[in-house]
Amino acid sequence: MPEQNVMRPVFFGHGSPMNAIESNRYSLAWREYGASIALPRAVLAISAHWYIGATAVTVMAHPRTIHDFYGFPRALFEVEYPAPGDPKVAQEVIELAEPVWVGTDSDSWGLDHGTWSVLCHVFPQANVPVLQLSIDASKPMNYHFELGRKLAALADMGVLVLGSGNVVHNLRRINWSEPEAGYDWARTFNEEVAGIMQSDPEALLRIESHPDFALASPTPDHFLPLVYLAGMAREMGTTATRFLDGYAYGSLSMAAFQL
Ligand code: ZN
Repeated sequence: MPEQNVMRPVFFGHGSPMNAIESNRYSLAWREYGASIALPRAVLAISAHWYIGATAVTVMAHPRTIHDFYGFPRALFEVEYPAPGDPKVAQEVIELAEPVWVGTDSDSWGLDHGTWSVLCHVFPQANVPVLQLSIDASKPMNYHFELGRKLAALADMGVLVLGSGNVVHNLRRINWSEPEAGYDWARTFNEEVAGIMQSDPEALLRIESHPDFALASPTPDHFLPLVYLAGMAREMGTTATRFLDGYAYGSLSMAAFQL
């Protein structure tokens, strides 16, 4: 295998799907990030929005763009992100995960907005193959952490593992009139998590006992992509740096981390 660039795993807070078509401080920072790194061989995206009853990886050569939301402007439904897939990398993911079983998805999923709303800025030319890994909703946090550890090897194989969720994500508490606001509890929790990721990522496994965890993460789908990053950090013997931060609508954190 030719020498590959080492791709440091990342986590993005994706927030509203509108970030895909807006020019704001998040979408601009995502563009800057993409322009600052070497082109990976492929991206393995772990998106909050593929939260199902198993761990699976997309294997199609041409994943479709999924518009998995409603009530947004037509322009957002017209976004296409035509990045190819990469069945060979999918096979490598399956082998790295063993003995954990990873299913193959050739015709059900594709690229959801957790993936493309970020990647349309990071790699606007859609010239890097993209795969998605589903999040098994039936498994405890430790399962995702351990699977993250196994996937850490992808960094040396030129594959960028990209988690996409939100450290704080509570849609019931959304305040649409405050696009730049963060509630006190959201800020406290976000800072706690950032402190852990920057010092001892394995301690993320104890975050469920934090008094604000239930408010910040009433369903674990948006938080779990970060647990994969913590597992990768543990395996690589490193910590994360926070390269972007902010709040949206009170109950969303836009924090982004890179190992
Ligand atoms: Zn989301």
